[in-house]
Amino acid sequence: AKWVYSFGAGAAEGSATMKNLLGGKGANLAEMSNLGLPVPPGFTITTEACTWYYDNGSTYPQELKEQVALALEAVGRETGRGFGDPDKPLLVSVRSGARVSMPGMMDTVLNLGLNDETVKALARASGDERFAYDSYRRFIQMYADVVMGLEHHVFEDVLEDYKDGNGHSLDTDITAEEWKSIITRYKAIVEEELERPFPQAPHEQLWGAIGAVFGSWNSARAITYRRLHEIPGDWGTAVNVQAMVFGNMGENSATGVAFTRNPSTGERALYGEFLVNAQGEDVVAGIRTPQDLTEAARLAAGSEAPSLEKLMPQAFGEFLGICERLEGHYRDMQDLEFTIERGKLWMLQTRSGKRTAKAALKIAVDMAAEGLITAEEAVMRVDPAALDQLLHPTIDPAAHRDVVGQGLPASPGAASGALVFSSEEAEEAKAAGRKVILARIETSPEDIHGMHAAEGILTTRGGMTSHAAVVARGMGKPCVSGAGMLRIDYRSGTMTVMGRTLQKGDIVTIDGSTGQILLGEVAMLQPELSGDFAALMEWADKVRRMKVRTNAETPNDARAARGFGAEGIGLCRTEHMFFEGERIVAVREMILSETEQGRRAALAKLLPMQRGDFVSLFEIMQGLPVTIRLLDPPLHEFLPHTDEEIAEVAEAMGVDPKRLRDRALMLQEFNPMLGHRGCRLLVSYPEIAEMQARAIFEAAVEAGRTTGAPVTPEIMVPLVGMKAELDLVRARIDAMAGEVAKESGTKIDYQVGTMIELPRAALRAAEIAESAEFFSFGTNDLTQTTFGISRDDAASFLGAYQQKGLIEQDPFVSLDREGVGELVQIAAERGRSSRPAIKLGICGEHGGDPASITFCEEVGLDYVSCSPFRVPIARLAAAQAAL
Ligand code: ADP
Ligand code: MG
Ligand code: MG
Repeated sequence: AKWVYSFGAGAAEGSATMKNLLGGKGANLAEMSNLGLPVPPGFTITTEACTWYYDNGSTYPQELKEQVALALEAVGRETGRGFGDPDKPLLVSVRSGARVSMPGMMDTVLNLGLNDETVKALARASGDERFAYDSYRRFIQMYADVVMGLEHHVFEDVLEDYKDGNGHSLDTDITAEEWKSIITRYKAIVEEELERPFPQAPHEQLWGAIGAVFGSWNSARAITYRRLHEIPGDWGTAVNVQAMVFGNMGENSATGVAFTRNPSTGERALYGEFLVNAQGEDVVAGIRTPQDLTEAARLAAGSEAPSLEKLMPQAFGEFLGICERLEGHYRDMQDLEFTIERGKLWMLQTRSGKRTAKAALKIAVDMAAEGLITAEEAVMRVDPAALDQLLHPTIDPAAHRDVVGQGLPASPGAASGALVFSSEEAEEAKAAGRKVILARIETSPEDIHGMHAAEGILTTRGGMTSHAAVVARGMGKPCVSGAGMLRIDYRSGTMTVMGRTLQKGDIVTIDGSTGQILLGEVAMLQPELSGDFAALMEWADKVRRMKVRTNAETPNDARAARGFGAEGIGLCRTEHMFFEGERIVAVREMILSETEQGRRAALAKLLPMQRGDFVSLFEIMQGLPVTIRLLDPPLHEFLPHTDEEIAEVAEAMGVDPKRLRDRALMLQEFNPMLGHRGCRLLVSYPEIAEMQARAIFEAAVEAGRTTGAPVTPEIMVPLVGMKAELDLVRARIDAMAGEVAKESGTKIDYQVGTMIELPRAALRAAEIAESAEFFSFGTNDLTQTTFGISRDDAASFLGAYQQKGLIEQDPFVSLDREGVGELVQIAAERGRSSRPAIKLGICGEHGGDPASITFCEEVGLDYVSCSPFRVPIARLAAAQAAL
């Protein structure tokens, strides 16, 4: 079998397509060789050799030794040197390289092949004894550390002691003779600590390093990293052995790293750093301050140190040409490593560069405009989830951060404002024109108005799917949740953190993208939704099949969603409207009434308000589809709790508060999420459905007149498990449509459909579809009811499930394809079997999750619906799913 692939001198046995076999680094070294670029010759030992090594009790395949020896000879021929040759020694680097770059793997060993003899030859050949012995001591240090496992600091200690004792402050003050005595000391330490000498034989050094690379594949760090990133353990790593080139051979030598475009802004300009007379990782290690590559960058930074462009114009010119060539060849921004040895340029690595969301967007759009990639490819190049970062204000990276606390990054974006500790205070402050951050121990549905009024929300309890987190994401507001290090005292109106006490009114900033809590107002960068963003979205819209709607109840949300490109409302949760202002009293009145008459009286108060809500939504949506869900409150969310609240409702109803309290107690449920909610409420009290249907139809007539665009409302019945439930509610809706049509003299087009959010509904979808013109998958509840896990209580155990590897992802965040997904599929198929043209959509958190959107495309849903700020994410994800 072939275990070794050579590269160098304008040719290679491998290529960029062979990443699985040669690892990313090896495949690209081969590719650059094939392109005729100046790559120091070398060879790659395959990942298959690594797998073989592990399958066979940490031994090597028989042919490997010979193949390595032959490849080494070839490198020697090309460089005019020999491995271990005392006169013209070949020195190499040993570099690990898996398919994907992976921290936790063995660090690169440079200058391998040096020993007490070859170092003399290096000194002669370079005419620089100091350089040779400095290289040797670096090699001993590196090799003993990464291959022999001797801690770095023992060498550092020797070096520091030496410098102190000899009056040196810098490494560069040390002479060749001094390095020699330090090297003697280094070797002695290795023997003392490890009870074996530092290996002098180059072959022993080489095989030691190869074994260390293979061994590092199963280091604890690497295993942890693989588990976190779902990288299979049987991929293995490749080993690259490559002839050394020296960036530390004097003032006309250098080493550097570069990106072909700016990785943080995406700007099309070479970006990078270099150091004169330095080797390997000196640039990133921060030993000296690196210099800018280009004059433009140097001037922009106002730096004194000359640029590479100025210092070594010829090598720089060649490098610039190579950058352009590689970018064109790979059709992507490249991250490069290079070294200049006595004026001669050598390429040591290329790969697609990591970049910020902002840069990813700009680079994709620019490259499409340059004709380097197609618009479809540009659409595929941007991670939809990363768009989130671009849709919200962010803290200026240059701003000073006075961090006073840390919570979970529950909803992205940053906001500043005065601290308040109640929703009432938040509303008052907002009305007075002040910006506030609402800080609560946790939030409940009663805080919706306060959350609306606030710029951002901070809680000390609750996770990523807590009420605060979910609602804030829905509103597109920054939220930091579960900041357990904070103590909020409602009574004194203070918040304590790390010994500091903040008062109500103190200005704070929260960063929902990192979870940080900062003191004072911090400079922000505003999102840029035109330009590149708009261009990419346009391309995405051209290729996607599924429509993207939004979940919205308020005019603000609806308008924001239109601005983000929503094509209708997929879910209007009418119960959210019931918390607004004074309405809650009328709602409580209705729920607590003991008679139909009493309920109708309360509903009559709500009718005009509901109608007004719907008119404005229809007007904003201008004839786009609007799905309105009939009331679905878990009753307990509406019940009055405090004496004050009870007194308020009692007065409105003209009943005895004590009697009302009893009624409220009677309505308490053990399991509200599985209780008297959804269509069950409508079955008990059909007059609620009637009022809502009337409000919808009257609003449709009115909005149809004002906008001139006919409105076709889609009325959605929640929590249906049986066709009979839907039929009962539907009959009331149909009757009301007839009534309003007669009263208004306008014929109203409308559809009635249902949420599919119970397993029984999914299974009985064929017959339910006989009465439903559309299905909307309510996957939040469907996940709860399929798993039998309460979303509100899941936090206490789902974490352990994830840690122990029972589940990969929180099923409330990303749709569980296997279980919940199968029910969705069944419902889609069965629904279509009895009504082929049935409209299918999804609402709820999953509608904005890229992985779940891919699933929706596979099942062939007609649309996804998500919170306004996730609309662009959904547009892009739907496009990628369709490509
Ligand atoms: P990493 O994956 O951590 O970047 P590399 O294998 O790329 O590790 O190497 C680390 C450093 O050593 C890089 O700066 C690289 O350019 C340098 N280097 C690697 N091989 C050689 C070589 N043959 N000659 C000179 N420098 C090298
Ligand atoms: Mg490294
Ligand atoms: Mg590298």
